[in-house]
Amino acid sequence: MATTTATGAGLITDEFRAAFRGELIEPGGAGYDEARAVYNGMIDRHPRLIARCADVADVIAAVNLARESGTLLAVRGGGHNAGGLGVWDDALVVDLSAMHSVHVDPASATVRAEGGATWGDVDHATHAFGLAVPCGIISTTGVGGLTLGGGIGNLTRQFGLSIDNLISADVVLADGSFVTASSDEHPDLFWALRGGGGNFGVVTSFEFRGNPVTNVIGGPMMFALEKAPEVMRAWDRFIDDAPGDINGWFAFLTVPPVDPFPAELQAKKVCAIVWCATAPAQRADELLAPFRAMGPVLDAVGEVPFPALNSAFDVFYPKGDQWYWRADFVDELSDEAIAIHAKYAEELPSGQSTMHLYPIGGAAHEPASGDTAWSYRDARYGQVIVGVDRDPANNEAITSWTREYHDALHPHSAGGAYVNMMMHDEGPDRVRASYRDNYDRLVEIKRRYDPANLFRINQNIAP
Ligand SMILES: Cc1cc2nc3c(=O)[nH]c(=O)nc-3n(C[C@H](O)[C@H](O)[C@H](O)COP(=O)(O)OP(=O)(O)OC[C@H]3O[C@@H](n4cnc5c(N)ncnc54)[C@H](O)[C@@H]3O)c2cc1C
Repeated sequence: MATTTATGAGLITDEFRAAFRGELIEPGGAGYDEARAVYNGMIDRHPRLIARCADVADVIAAVNLARESGTLLAVRGGGHNAGGLGVWDDALVVDLSAMHSVHVDPASATVRAEGGATWGDVDHATHAFGLAVPCGIISTTGVGGLTLGGGIGNLTRQFGLSIDNLISADVVLADGSFVTASSDEHPDLFWALRGGGGNFGVVTSFEFRGNPVTNVIGGPMMFALEKAPEVMRAWDRFIDDAPGDINGWFAFLTVPPVDPFPAELQAKKVCAIVWCATAPAQRADELLAPFRAMGPVLDAVGEVPFPALNSAFDVFYPKGDQWYWRADFVDELSDEAIAIHAKYAEELPSGQSTMHLYPIGGAAHEPASGDTAWSYRDARYGQVIVGVDRDPANNEAITSWTREYHDALHPHSAGGAYVNMMMHDEGPDRVRASYRDNYDRLVEIKRRYDPANLFRINQNIAP
């Protein structure tokens, strides 16, 4: 990538310019508006400089520049964070989007992804080798933010959270030094990175274990909304002690008004279970039989390549839509909670608004709460209520529905929330509640690696 002729925004020193190979994008310059835009169209922030890094040396140079100049530092991976934590007003943005290569070593079944890769990049590279890394459910999401916050998705019950598959991470620390964190090297940092978000440094490369996955039996099974309490209860009972090779998350949604959805279902509100079984087809069918007997209005579950399942919803959620969400961990789906769900599902404020309950069972339950920074190993579900619409004129409607739904359900939750599904303004108590007993240890490690809180545009753990 060519060095630009950026003039500086009062920030760029000669030393920095000489050290930096990537692209420097400044206010008023070409590509600035495109580069500052993140996935959530509600976010409209104006950073002072976007340093689109070409390599690790660039990241070191940019971190040093931010620290030495006393400039706020933001780090952008995939740019998907709903609170827009990858970009900030007046900040120097370390933009990792050009660092997205993925290398698979088939001999050791390991996968190395650069800090700005998306899960689509990983799925593409690993599928060719019959491997997969547990990731999220939309392929355009960044490996960086999703992994550092935990990583819940279609393979959670089979192979654990994304962090449970992390072998090591290369990190540029606040002082500009570079370390590799693993269970052998800087084990305290490795512990903190697995759930503690972007608080500890810029991860330039993630090394994951690849798991043997090619095709899965997956896709959505949709039911009439009136059946939601019955389906929710049946799914809740099933998923609790289902075998480890099947996963299925629950959703309320509106059937998209496009082909190939049947005309009579288009624009109808439904509930759904999105299945992902790595079990052989015949056994998956046996496991799904009780749900088929409940009479789904649409059964789109079949054998698909894993990357196809992971990208199936991408088209309905393109970059630039308006997003507002609220999350909680959930231990129990009581009758009262189910009644609240049913009420707000009927009031979904737009075609893209949704509610998801992701199981945190199976392999994700195996580590103890203190084994990684990700504390809620004992929770049964990660719940997220998501108001989404293309039209900013509906922001009030999607925001108030999300807040009211969340306020009604929160008393039925486990207390904390998955940090990756929180907005940017939920406050330090919510962050602390997400880490419970792990919080104090995170503070201790933060003091060791980032005492001045250079990395603070995140769900912050203040030193
Ligand atoms: C459409 C959509 C679907 C989603 N689905 C899922 C899902 O299925 N499962 C799930 O677990 N989550 C999911 N999420 C939530 C997602 O995990 C978070 O939004 C996450 O923050 C996104 O990471 P990112 O790298 O794309 O974001 P960014 O906005 O780039 O970054 C988010 C935070 O992570 C930090 N960060 C990013 N990369 C690095 C890095 N390399 N080094 C250090 N810090 C870094 C940033 O500084 C920032 O604080 C989804 C989000 C969206 C919008």
